[in-house]
Amino acid sequence: MKELIVHGPGQLQWVEAPSPSLSGPRSALVRPIASASCDLDRRLIAGVTPFKPPFALGHECVAEVLEVGDEVSSVRRGDLVSVPWKIACGSCPQCLAGRATACTTVPPHAAYGVPAGGHWGGLFSEVVHVPFADAMLVPLPPGLNPLAVASASDNLTDAWVAASRPIAAREDARVLVVGGTESLGVLAVQMAVAAGAASVDYLDDNEYRRDLAVRSGAKVELDKVLDERYDVVVSATRDPQALHRGLLALAPGGHCSCIGIIFEDPKIPLFGMYLRDVTLSVGACNVRPHIPTVFDLVSSGRCDPLLVSPSVVSCDEATEALVQPLAKCIVVRERIT
Ligand SMILES: [Zn+2]
Ligand SMILES: [Zn+2]
Repeated sequence: MKELIVHGPGQLQWVEAPSPSLSGPRSALVRPIASASCDLDRRLIAGVTPFKPPFALGHECVAEVLEVGDEVSSVRRGDLVSVPWKIACGSCPQCLAGRATACTTVPPHAAYGVPAGGHWGGLFSEVVHVPFADAMLVPLPPGLNPLAVASASDNLTDAWVAASRPIAAREDARVLVVGGTESLGVLAVQMAVAAGAASVDYLDDNEYRRDLAVRSGAKVELDKVLDERYDVVVSATRDPQALHRGLLALAPGGHCSCIGIIFEDPKIPLFGMYLRDVTLSVGACNVRPHIPTVFDLVSSGRCDPLLVSPSVVSCDEATEALVQPLAKCIVVRERIT
């Protein structure tokens, strides 16, 4: 089978590798049919993250199930499933407490597509091993377009959680989305609208994404100096200065969800935040419990993830398409089940 491997900065290549096999009665083998680039992927390819090559790329996909172990009961061969980015067992104390991102059955940070807690393969690969199928895979409802939810494994669901949680805790929330990465900001605009925000403003110096944000329901003509009026800020930027602006724009009692990954230690305006009793949440989201809600949002047309994924390419075109700037990219493969 073929794996998409990051060999070094800017070096992305399909490589022939042995096909994985079932590791036990709870495992499954799946074949990605629609794999999306995460906003982190371009940086992983460029070699500007702490994750060192070589490693298999990809942690967002919809796949067809090829084979399941004897104890797997929720999926069978031929089913279409979302494959969450995190490897988690579903039965350790952390998983049972809802913190699958801290699963103790596997090494810390075990995930697809990044060499953090070992090598678990990448979701652009032709065949992927899923060690805990019932705990990880989420079957697609009939009729749902796999392309539209290719990103439910990470970015799409992350945007939903980041926007909807603080909005649900507030009346008539005024929302600011600070964009900057390829898709997260625009997706957060869509999710804030879907979650019932009273208004959504979008801050980004990129014209292409500002246009997508307007089409998603945001206002983009903002004052130069943002005043403290936002009940909810979703920071989907990797620019520490932009995060800083977002934090200073929080209203008293506000909440900032930081979902853009910043590897350095940014300057946080803590005293200004203290005076306004605001909350900053940062964290790799345990997406799996929220994926069914995201499926509903896409099915009912309340969000349109394909707006941020204008290019759909074959595996042959993937190495070129994945280094193009600006937008998300979806790599497709024909079904065999
Ligand atoms: Zn990601
Ligand atoms: Zn676990």
